[in-house]
Amino acid sequence: MNTKIKKIDVNKMDMQIIEEAGEILKRGGLVAFPTETVYGLGADALDEKAARKIYAAKGRPSDNPLIVHIAEVRALDRIATDIPIKVEELAYYFWPGPLTMILKKSEEVPYETTGGLDTVAVRLPQNVIARELIRAAGGYVSAPSANTSGRPSPTKAEHVKQDLDGKIDMILDGGSVEIGLESTILDMTVKPPMILRPGAVTLDMLEKVLGDVSVDQTMIGDESETPPKAPGMKYRHYAPKAKLMILEGSLREEILAIRQMAYEAERNGKKVGVIATNETIGFYTNGRVKNIGSRENEKTIARNLYAVLREFDEEDVEEIYSESFALEGMGKAIMNRLEKAAGHLRISAEAVVRQQKYRRIVFVSNSDTCRGPMAAEMLRQKELVQEYVIDSGGMVVLFPEPVNPKAEAVMKSAKMTLGNHVAQSFSETEIDRDILVLAVEEEQKEKLITQYGDNGNIYTLCEFIGETCKVEDPYGGSLQTYGACLEKLSGLIDKLAGKLNALAAMTMDKE
Ligand code: AMP
Ligand code: MG
Repeated sequence: MNTKIKKIDVNKMDMQIIEEAGEILKRGGLVAFPTETVYGLGADALDEKAARKIYAAKGRPSDNPLIVHIAEVRALDRIATDIPIKVEELAYYFWPGPLTMILKKSEEVPYETTGGLDTVAVRLPQNVIARELIRAAGGYVSAPSANTSGRPSPTKAEHVKQDLDGKIDMILDGGSVEIGLESTILDMTVKPPMILRPGAVTLDMLEKVLGDVSVDQTMIGDESETPPKAPGMKYRHYAPKAKLMILEGSLREEILAIRQMAYEAERNGKKVGVIATNETIGFYTNGRVKNIGSRENEKTIARNLYAVLREFDEEDVEEIYSESFALEGMGKAIMNRLEKAAGHLRISAEAVVRQQKYRRIVFVSNSDTCRGPMAAEMLRQKELVQEYVIDSGGMVVLFPEPVNPKAEAVMKSAKMTLGNHVAQSFSETEIDRDILVLAVEEEQKEKLITQYGDNGNIYTLCEFIGETCKVEDPYGGSLQTYGACLEKLSGLIDKLAGKLNALAAMTMDKE
């Protein structure tokens, strides 16, 4: 089948295109169209053959019912019976909009549309293209998300094309959607009404209208065997091809744990993705890091979530690590989708972080222009089991000078460079226990201990690896002197790497 793709502008709607799309639906065909939540795959909701086509095109399990989209509230009467009074009030506040209500179905709705249930899910969308299309199609359009079943829902026409090109009659391209996550589903056939899927219409908002509202407990964080009340929610959903893991803990722990896991996975040759936010993106160095939006405005996160998951797919990423989000308001919907996409794979960030004895290693020398930066760079080149932030700093740094030219020359002949290094003074406000401070000389160690006190994490490099040795300052010497210094450091850093790996293995074994 040749799938027609038609661009359509909400502000200058080409009604001829809408009419053409409406005709396709009336004849039992399939048209994908934008709604404010995600792109929907439309079919005539009252035509059982059309419903079957939807299941076939999406590869959707046939017990997963469809949502019927209407363009006017009064259209409800034809498809639902025994409508509770509160429905009118809910419609007044939230329609058109991202709220789906479950009601008792009338005889007009075929069981193909409701997945065999005696209830029907109904929504009146906000998007004007969607509403005009529904009108042109006769008023009742069932429209699940326009993706291949199980994949992240489409938030752009391009996503629909990726999944359904050649399988449906037409795609109406109305640009990117506004909300980016599917509608809230509210079951109005039970008392009190129950939220079956969280969305942009939040528990709080519903409580203001209804008073008492219950929540399907399988929605978030559930590992029990109880099936969710919305049949569709039992399937692994919204999922990228990669293995997605959610780190849970304080934001600081999540960042440290993701750094560690991304580091490890890359060392094992994996292609790694990291889901970060505006506020945290600067903390990541390993993996393909994507900004999903701002924690201050969770709507931006909702809008980008599926697109980011799809981008990782296109880049053939094998493992994705994500931060988690607050379980309030829109955050609840975000976490619900993220957990489904991850197949409930959650990891305690605290447990990962607990395995790290040191997180940061700082080499301290006098001027931070030679021995310290050399040692730091050599350690960065080592195969380390754990991920560390490796730095250097000087005791007396008056201005940010580059590295000593002879030091750079010998580093270059050893195929390393300190070309980007700028001397900085060692200026911690305090020395936390998770920093390992390695002075190149005894004298600097003593000064540090006088200044910061002794927490058992300030050593000379030689002392830490259990050697009695000295790394002389080559300053003023020949290139050979610098070469000898590099040789000496190189041997010590080998041993240091060995010791750090042994320490990391020990803390991991204790778990
Ligand atoms: P989608 O259209 O892809 O957003 O999926 C529709 C969702 O609504 C699925 O999770 C369905 O299980 C749910 N749903 C549709 N109709 C009903 C119904 N009558 N009762 C409970 N859940 C429903
Ligand atoms: Mg869906």
